Amino acid sequence: MINEAIDHMLIENRKHFMIPGDMVASVSADNSLRHAFLLLTKVRYAKIPVLDNDDHFLGLLSLAMITEPMLGLDDVSLAPLDQLCVKDVMQTDVVTVADPYDVENILHLLIDNPFLPVVQDDGVFTGIVTRREVMKGINYIGHNIDKVYRLEPLPESTAEQR
Ligand code: AMP
Repeated sequence: MINEAIDHMLIENRKHFMIPGDMVASVSADNSLRHAFLLLTKVRYAKIPVLDNDDHFLGLLSLAMITEPMLGLDDVSLAPLDQLCVKDVMQTDVVTVADPYDVENILHLLIDNPFLPVVQDDGVFTGIVTRREVMKGINYIGHNIDKVYRLEPLPESTAEQR
């Protein structure tokens, strides 16, 4: 179980926890790779969510997923950019969360994922939780926890039992 004080202080800052869907750059599954290539290059994010026309979350797209089909043995071809669309190359095995405020689960999953898409039970995408925003929360706790809680070291014998 996560420490109650840490959980409480992170949740106090909940308005910064999730970046809402309307602030997240995304592509449509039916977009051409040419459109996605231009968009990803412009926004400069490593990976962005792929949605359908009803805002359902379908997967993630990175520049590497777009350029991979462009590579021949010793040449690069632009033709796949018009022949393929986003759903042909996107990543679909994605870790998502339903509750952006389940701190224990979020901290655990952010160890291996730079961000987590937040997806409702009906599949609708509502935003992302990023490592960066959570790190800001941890930084805040590191600087402020002793203004809210009294922290005292345990006697050595008790600490060693952990
Ligand atoms: P950060 O922790 O801010 O560096 O973000 C980590 C990753 O989350 C980025 O590389 C993107 O893949 C994704 N990301 C963060 N913010 C956005 C956004 N506004 N729109 C789309 N993707 C984002």
